[in-house]
Amino acid sequence: MRDLSGKTALVTGASRGIGRAIAERLAADGARVIVHYASNDDLAKETVAAIESAGGQAYAVKAAFEDGVDALFEGLRGERLDILVNNAAILAGVLGTVSEEQFDRVFAVNVRAPYFIIERALPLLNDGGRIINISSAVVRIALPDLVYSMTKGALDTLGFSLAPLLGDRNITVNTVSPGVTETDMNAWLRADDGTAERAVTEVTALGRIGRPQDIADAVALLASEGSRWITGHVLDVTGGYFLG
Ligand code: NDP
Repeated sequence: MRDLSGKTALVTGASRGIGRAIAERLAADGARVIVHYASNDDLAKETVAAIESAGGQAYAVKAAFEDGVDALFEGLRGERLDILVNNAAILAGVLGTVSEEQFDRVFAVNVRAPYFIIERALPLLNDGGRIINISSAVVRIALPDLVYSMTKGALDTLGFSLAPLLGDRNITVNTVSPGVTETDMNAWLRADDGTAERAVTEVTALGRIGRPQDIADAVALLASEGSRWITGHVLDVTGGYFLG
């Protein structure tokens, strides 16, 4: 399917994990993809190379969001955008281990950056465009990284509140909430004899850990023409994690 031919997508945090899978999937659907990353030059190059070797178009832009989003916008090549995926995020730590500086850093990357990226991207975003923010199932499941969870709650609110403001331009704003997904963020999954993985799969309706491609496919769905009537929505993409 080449539903996104002629469109340009900016994906933050696309050097690895879920962001890379999103970048590759949107490129496979025909979009030209801007691959944002923070510091891993080699991994960002790998994402671009994977897209190009599959016949797609991409380039990388480096920007650490603790320092704001100027570097991201300076790295763009003057093009207009059709799809913005705010995916980059970092963890904080459990109660009692997070300094005020770390708290501010996590909010800067997970909340301040998406907000100002959206604000700065809006004049570049074509009517009929898509904004997709990557949140987390932690918004509905109590987990001990309180600061990270709080940032994702803020992102859910941002999507819901922003959608009505952009309806007159036919720009949809949706939120995708993954569950536990196999990425660097979840190194704890592989840190024991399989107990952690079993504990997650036992409470997941579909009985396995999520893969980055599972999330990318849901993002592609929301980026597609077929999702034109969906906005202000939070989509649970967890395989049915903790349904009770
Ligand atoms: P990863 O840790 O695998 O990748 C993080 C990405 O964000 C990388 O591209 C990284 O760039 C970039 N990044 C890291 N620090 C910064 C920074 N300071 N400024 C800008 N960009 C930065 O994350 P995942 O793929 O696991 O997660 C992607 C999204 O999915 C996040 O929003 C996360 O909260 C969400 N999510 C993930 C879940 C999971 O189980 N993995 C579950 C629920 C939600 P670089 O490589 O250069 O460091």
